[in-house]
Amino acid sequence: MSLDISSLDALHDTLTRLSTSFDTLPNHDADTLDDAGREVLAQVAERLTNNYPYHHPLYAGQMLKPPHPLARTAYQLAMWLNPNNHALDGGRASSAMEKEAVADLARMFGWTESLGHLCGGGTMANLEALWVAGQRRPGTILASSQAHYTHGRISGVLGLDFAAVPVDPRGAMDVTALERTLASGGVGTVVATLGTTGFGAVDPLPEILTLRDKYEFRLHIDAAYGGYFALADNLDDAARAAFASAGEADSIVIDPHKHGLQPYGCGCVLFADPDVGRLYQHDSPYTYFTSNELHLGEITLECSRAGASAVALWATHRLLPPVRGGQFAENLSRCRTAALGLYQYIDKSPDYLPVMAPALDIVVWAPQGASTSAISARSEALFDAAAGRDLHLALLGVPVDIARAHWCDTVRYDTETVVCLRSTLMKPEHATWLPEIEGILTHLARR
Ligand SMILES: *Cc1c(COP(=O)(O)O)cnc(C)c1O
Repeated sequence: MSLDISSLDALHDTLTRLSTSFDTLPNHDADTLDDAGREVLAQVAERLTNNYPYHHPLYAGQMLKPPHPLARTAYQLAMWLNPNNHALDGGRASSAMEKEAVADLARMFGWTESLGHLCGGGTMANLEALWVAGQRRPGTILASSQAHYTHGRISGVLGLDFAAVPVDPRGAMDVTALERTLASGGVGTVVATLGTTGFGAVDPLPEILTLRDKYEFRLHIDAAYGGYFALADNLDDAARAAFASAGEADSIVIDPHKHGLQPYGCGCVLFADPDVGRLYQHDSPYTYFTSNELHLGEITLECSRAGASAVALWATHRLLPPVRGGQFAENLSRCRTAALGLYQYIDKSPDYLPVMAPALDIVVWAPQGASTSAISARSEALFDAAAGRDLHLALLGVPVDIARAHWCDTVRYDTETVVCLRSTLMKPEHATWLPEIEGILTHLARR
């Protein structure tokens, strides 16, 4: 069976137990699915067949990772009650679980006194971090040209100036260029990305921290994708040093719905200084305070949030604690091992050109070609041909400056960007499926 259906037994058992906890109430029959509802559900199942097989190891394209069966089941169990973590009235148990789960994430970066909460995703989390940044230290927001595109847009929403800092050949922020911009003044916050969305590049955080001593700015880390690699034991020296110093930042964003085995709708923002909570203060007459304890609705920009997300993350942390040396960390290291394996295959292959060695678990490469236009066309054709053999890759537009730094004069540069192939190897099973993946790639190149 390709999809996990067996965990429905556990859902049934635990739901039955949850239901009996309400047995003291006067009888009230729950709404159930009638025949008309079942008919529509069958149509839904039919529509959902039109999808890529995200859960399968031959899906090796975009940043899509299947949730852990426990996360999926705990989410559904909670969703039967549908708690709302806006306020304690809406989600008493799930709010407590959110605080514990967020504390687990903060501890990954050595933070024990921080403030943080879950939110819809990385974009929302970065919005909150930059909203706080703009109030704490007004000025231009800087992020690298390979940072997530939403930083520029979020700055616009917040009415803050934004400027992009060029990147080096690894796709990481160029600190010389950063210093030039800092020296010209007016910078409020620097966003360092630990794991860019395109290449998985890691900005040189230790050097950025040295510049902070000299120029003073607020430092936000966007680790929406890469954050969990703080736990991996097989990073190169530069990436390891960057993750080791992440705790020096003012705020950090990490997405449990990227590498943290969670269903969508689970991002997290963390602030080193819990005092930023005062920026969120409100005295809404709609929010009823059923206790004097700080409730999460007082420290989030969003109001209603799925308590089920917090329950799923909490459950996952009980089974797979996000700590160094644990099973979760080992699985993450295996993703990186898979990426290094694919990179080695491409590097040796006469048919393909690597763009750069992966810093995390994302590999970007291209089929051989005489010019960047020819390479782009071949990448697109290969993307389709691979899908025809059930291998699902992704495409990435690589700026020619980056390509040229690696390919030198072996290629003619007749375009501004070159379309390359990209594989995000987010499943530990990718390591064991590499021979299969490489076999398909070799076959396709020789057609
Ligand atoms: C995915 C990603 C985001 C956006 O997060 P969403 O959860 O998709 O909103 C931001 N920054 C980085 C580096 C990302 O990889």
